Amino acid sequence: MKKTVEHIDVKGMKVLVRCDLNVPIKDGKITDETRITASLPTIQYLIDHDAKIIIMSHLGRPEGKADMAYTLKPVADRLSELLGKEVVFISSPTVVDDRVREAADKLEPGQVMLLENVRFRPEETKNTFDFSSELASLGQIFVNDAFGTAHRAHCSTAGVAGYLPTVSGFLIDKEIRYLGEALERPLRPFVAIMGGAKVGDKIKVIENLLNKVDTLIIGGGMSYTFFKALGYEIGQSILDADHVELAGSLIEKAREKGVQLLLPEDVVCAKEFDNDSEKAVFAKDSIPEDMMGMDIGPASVKLFSEAIAAAKTVVWNGPMGVFEMPNFAEGTKKVAEALAECEGTTIIGGGDSAAAVTQFGLADKMSHISTGGGASLEFLEGKVLPGVAAINNLEHTDENVELYKHIYDSRNKN
Ligand code: AMP
Repeated sequence: MKKTVEHIDVKGMKVLVRCDLNVPIKDGKITDETRITASLPTIQYLIDHDAKIIIMSHLGRPEGKADMAYTLKPVADRLSELLGKEVVFISSPTVVDDRVREAADKLEPGQVMLLENVRFRPEETKNTFDFSSELASLGQIFVNDAFGTAHRAHCSTAGVAGYLPTVSGFLIDKEIRYLGEALERPLRPFVAIMGGAKVGDKIKVIENLLNKVDTLIIGGGMSYTFFKALGYEIGQSILDADHVELAGSLIEKAREKGVQLLLPEDVVCAKEFDNDSEKAVFAKDSIPEDMMGMDIGPASVKLFSEAIAAAKTVVWNGPMGVFEMPNFAEGTKKVAEALAECEGTTIIGGGDSAAAVTQFGLADKMSHISTGGGASLEFLEGKVLPGVAAINNLEHTDENVELYKHIYDSRNKN
């Protein structure tokens, strides 16, 4: 169990908060502010509890230089509008300098300051002690709430924790609670659904999940590599040729572990990788030589949906087909609908599957949508995330478990 911001007294304290405010910006305008709004509960909690708040974030990849194309100024402005109060912002090319220190020192309880893009400093991504201690010197407590970068050991995600008492914000707490519970104490049956294009990217996740799940569903582009391993012809479908053997050994491992492995029964094929290409459904072992699998077919949807309906815990990562093309989005949509109807805990592991459930208007039907694609994949791989490991543990006593449960339940009541 990790300590959260609610386990400590922040009144009057200078609290350094790492958020993930890495929003897409086009022509100076924020095009999707999800990450800002997702960070608000922790910031608002700190305001309400009279902390002096100093927020850190990265934005894009300025490659360690003070490239003003990546200034956090537009984020500071929007954050100020959303909070309904001033957000102090000093666009320092070195992120921390005398002006910044002075402004941080002058903060009153409840006041908010945002530092300039931490990736203006080349040291940030190298997790060196100098920049970490510069950042840490601004605060008295470190709150990490940036799950999206928790898999990176950077100065602002892990380094500062070496100098300050460190707790999690609400966002990270929710992520580790959902993902962690699913992996450690899942209600069963536990079903994982993996999709997307590349097997290579997700092998470690599949390997780890095979030790945890009752059923593993494989769909999307990666299923053709598994088909190949089973000896089926896959026509022009996407193939991860380097991993055919490995796909075969994963099938074997599933058998050994008694995990039910479900692959598509049928696929929607097209002649071209094009939304308007002629399409037809074929059985898994009858894909024509000149066609490619673009989506799962109706028999697969039925098979997968039945497994999902029976599940008490579902984790989903990766689309079932080329869902960006409306004519090949049906399989992904039907799986998203099956999750929406599932009475168990449903967890969406970030990235494309998160985009898909949002696109289908089903986001609010899921128990949890992870905010970190890469971070949630690493979590599912069973890796230690440096940004999470850096958070202080809460001693595992019955009293603490009860307290945590009480705090968590009352926070998430609404
Ligand atoms: P990933 O980044 O590995 O999760 O892959 C996501 C991408 O996989 C999406 O852009 C999908 O369009 C793509 N994808 C899913 N199914 C297929 C398929 N059958 N053929 C080609 N690409 C696919």
